[in-house]
Amino acid sequence: MSKRDYYEVLGVGRGATEDEVKKAYRRLAMKYHPDRNDGDKGAEQKFKEAKEAYEVLSDADKRRLYDAHGHAAFEGGGGAGRGAAGADFGDIFGDIFGDIFGGGRQRARRGADLRYVVELDLEEAVFGATREIEIPTLDECKACDGSGSSDGKRKTCGTCRGHGRVRMQNGIFSIQQTCPTCGGSGQVVENPCKVCRGAGRVEGEKTLSVKIPAGVDEGDRIRLAGEGQAGARGVPAGDLYVEVHVKPHPIFQRDGADLYCEVPIRFSQAALGGELTVPTLGGEALIKIPVETQSGKLFRLRGKGVKPVRGGEAGDLLCRVVVETPVKLTRKQKELLEQFEASFEDGREHTPRQTGWFDGVKQFWDRMTSG
Ligand SMILES: [Zn+2]
Ligand SMILES: [Zn+2]
Repeated sequence: MSKRDYYEVLGVGRGATEDEVKKAYRRLAMKYHPDRNDGDKGAEQKFKEAKEAYEVLSDADKRRLYDAHGHAAFEGGGGAGRGAAGADFGDIFGDIFGDIFGGGRQRARRGADLRYVVELDLEEAVFGATREIEIPTLDECKACDGSGSSDGKRKTCGTCRGHGRVRMQNGIFSIQQTCPTCGGSGQVVENPCKVCRGAGRVEGEKTLSVKIPAGVDEGDRIRLAGEGQAGARGVPAGDLYVEVHVKPHPIFQRDGADLYCEVPIRFSQAALGGELTVPTLGGEALIKIPVETQSGKLFRLRGKGVKPVRGGEAGDLLCRVVVETPVKLTRKQKELLEQFEASFEDGREHTPRQTGWFDGVKQFWDRMTSG
């Protein structure tokens, strides 16, 4: 396939100014940038073509050569911008257009951060756990041993003509920088590997053993530096954030370092008092129920809560006793309760709360009728 004329590619006249060339390239680059075209091969091709044309026409020396000899001026050294297929679009894009796409530069410098949610039982969150998680990686391509070349042949990089460095025009500044095409080596792969398309790396997966420290809580994040998405060649990987999600527990609710639980007790237990065995995360504990304990009373078990991951004392376990009205009573139980009820006929002193409530109701009615 013969190459299109660089002026035609950018859609500018042969007398176009440096500024017109730059504007034309920006317009095309924004339209066809791989980030915006989601793997569209046609767009990627157009992007590369525009980049190649720009690299030549924006450089006064190269442009003069091109005007005099056409594409032949750069043959032998290979066309500018070719070579490593799947080259670092982000890099060159970030460098030239950092001013437009604020974050572009940053994105190009590191691989993406990854977020991974682990579901934990309350016990695992409190005592810590180890989880095996699968994360995506970029592995060395086995077909080419990571070289990106199908036959080991290399040629002089067309972008920098073997110097390893290029001059980039950025506004009024001319910046000397490492060649983005060859990464400074001055050489590029002649025939890209078919498996990795010249990238030298392929997508893989790895299992990571993540130690979750004791005391973590809902929404806590564990940062594993450098375990995120791999960057492009020579670019550090992002970080992996393991986010904790704690499943609801059938008995305990957690509030920071404290744990809560509700313990149903019988009416007779509440009235007569006694001992009650309650569960804790570390085993069992004994609560002494005093005589005449009211429903809803809170018992605090010091230090039976959670030791926070960021340090400090363990919290408490708070047990709320709730009196349960008995159901499916036997005839015998009913008789006993009827006798019991009869014993309250003049029992104001046995039910201070009920008595107080009735007194309040009486006062309310008196005010209503007198007003
Ligand atoms: Zn390969
Ligand atoms: Zn180069």
